[in-house]
Amino acid sequence: MGELSGKVALVTGSSRGLGKGVALVLAEKGADVVVNYNSSREEAEEVCKAVRGYGVQSICVQANVGKSDDVQRLFSEIDAKFGKLDFLVNNAGTSRAENIFDITEENWDYILETNLKSVFLCSKAAMIRMRERKFGRIVNMSSMVAHQGALFGHVHYASTKGGILSFTKTLARTAAPYGITVNAVAPGIIKTELLFKTHGEEGVAKLASTVPLGLGEMRDVGLAVAYLCGEGGNYLTGICLDVNGGMYMH
Ligand code: NAP
Repeated sequence: MGELSGKVALVTGSSRGLGKGVALVLAEKGADVVVNYNSSREEAEEVCKAVRGYGVQSICVQANVGKSDDVQRLFSEIDAKFGKLDFLVNNAGTSRAENIFDITEENWDYILETNLKSVFLCSKAAMIRMRERKFGRIVNMSSMVAHQGALFGHVHYASTKGGILSFTKTLARTAAPYGITVNAVAPGIIKTELLFKTHGEEGVAKLASTVPLGLGEMRDVGLAVAYLCGEGGNYLTGICLDVNGGMYMH
């Protein structure tokens, strides 16, 4: 029996990247996992299969978490399959490599909807369910850029990651009387496929040299989320765990 056995987790955007890493660690620790994706169905199904490999249950649900109709359908599917939700990990997120001169109103709205409105929509749906059972853990994926700003443009992305921190602190107060904790995780630079695609092997090595503990693994982020969901998180709410290998210190 793992520490999280009997619990049900939803990880938004878990078809790849950090969300996949989180889903696998939660499963390893015994939680049933709802794998959510927007367009990468095959990858999501592979993650579901890997999750079941830990002997827990998993379903794969397509939903654009920035859209309220999709979020309602996602939660209805969770109700039908599991009848409860213990952990919500608001991970789905995206960015576009552009600075303020290139960002259109449409792109601004797209990033805000995907990264921030999704956190509102999913947290609200989860809170309604968690409040009834007087238990819940919400973990929001922020980023180191929430503290120091993004280095090259990405002002829309950075705004959402900062917004997530304020959202987390505020919701933590509302949620506490219902036995629900709300926390954030702020990863630094994590070794994802995208990172290697964007920077190449050499670029990644250069980046690693700037981080005291080197670059992070997806599992490192998963472990931080699992800690907040487990017993270690009992008395933690409104905090941000900085999973950045010492790259940024407050
Ligand atoms: P990624 O590899 O691009 O994966 C993003 C995931 O989100 C995919 O599973 C994608 O699914 C899903 N997604 C995107 N839009 C969605 C939507 N509207 N509805 C549902 N799912 C959606 O990104 P990542 O690097 O793992 O980042 C994940 C989170 O960690 C983000 O919030 C990001 O800001 C944060 N973060 C990452 C790093 C890092 O080093 N990678 C550092 C700090 C913070 P589909 O493919 O199906 O669209």
